[in-house]
Amino acid sequence: MSLKDDLIARIRETGPLSIADYMAECLLHPVHGYYTTRDPLGAAGDFTTAPEISQMFGELIGLALAQGWINQGRPERFVLAELGPGRGTLMADVLRATRAVPGFAEAAEICFVEASPTLRATQAETLKGYAPRWLHRAEDLPADLPLFAVANEFFDALPVRQFLRHGAGWCERRVGLRDGALGFGLGGEAPQTALAHRLEDTSDGDLVEICEAAAPIASALAARIAARGGIALIVDYGDWRSLGDTLQALRAHEPADVLADPGQADLTAHVDFEVLAQAARAAGCAHGRLTPQGVFLERLGITARAQALARGLSGDALEDLVAAHRRLTHPEEMGNLFKVLGLYPPQAAPPPGLDP
Ligand code: SAH
Repeated sequence: MSLKDDLIARIRETGPLSIADYMAECLLHPVHGYYTTRDPLGAAGDFTTAPEISQMFGELIGLALAQGWINQGRPERFVLAELGPGRGTLMADVLRATRAVPGFAEAAEICFVEASPTLRATQAETLKGYAPRWLHRAEDLPADLPLFAVANEFFDALPVRQFLRHGAGWCERRVGLRDGALGFGLGGEAPQTALAHRLEDTSDGDLVEICEAAAPIASALAARIAARGGIALIVDYGDWRSLGDTLQALRAHEPADVLADPGQADLTAHVDFEVLAQAARAAGCAHGRLTPQGVFLERLGITARAQALARGLSGDALEDLVAAHRRLTHPEEMGNLFKVLGLYPPQAAPPPGLDP
């Protein structure tokens, strides 16, 4: 039975699914889930990410984490964590770049938060020679050590619920059946406490999203950082607050119909950074000002790094490098759409590249 048939049968039996339930099934169904069954990254896959575009991304993240570690007194043991590490490319670049920082790698206990068995296997292969530990949830990260963490394009994969405003209430958008096929519909109107603050900046007919999984994860990171030290760098597309339907499906690098082939396309939604920042503050952590990726990478020296790499290159390889630099930083490419939120202990300096 395909996931689509499975979902149709389930909806017949128990009624429409929230968008979040639909997303969760599509992405992480144990047998048919998108992430469970494949490596979706790269040219042959469905989408690409900053670390897959260029080694410069992971190198600069690595050096920012290491500088944070130095600024906080070089704790002699700490957790070096990544949430949703994909192929492990970013962490491999972090570890290579930070070889130049004496004591950093020796002090690091590498932990990956990863749900996909397929990607865990790829990560093990990429990180051969290191001994990463895999965890299912951010809440499982050790709580007794400083935490230096990165999450790139992780939060956008977490399921969102969608609500359409109707007066002072909200109707939930759901996936149900239309002529026997999957179709969008709306549930009944109800007040939503989680959306009280969105009555200020929306009007009738506006659609807003909530990602219920996001705050507990930000809170788990923040609590560790507030208590033991460390920093977290959260990089993703989105903004302080999102408005409108940002749910998108991507297949073979092209936008696809969200309902057409459950489990066969990547599904993501924009990240609402305000929710992460609030959860971090509530857990006693400070956060930097939300900063566009392009600005962040420029401050960390991506242009100097690109120039250094360019010295050994010519022809296509040089053109690829120039294109990668542009793609990561240019405001019309990833530079502005992607943002960086940094978490740090209130008494410490913000992570390099970020303002308080
Ligand atoms: N950070 C990588 C990969 C991004 S794709 C990169 O930049 O290339 C999203 C990653 O998050 C994948 O590794 C996916 O398997 C993982 N993931 C998605 N939802 C998850 C969840 N709920 N819990 C743990 N990992 C998850």
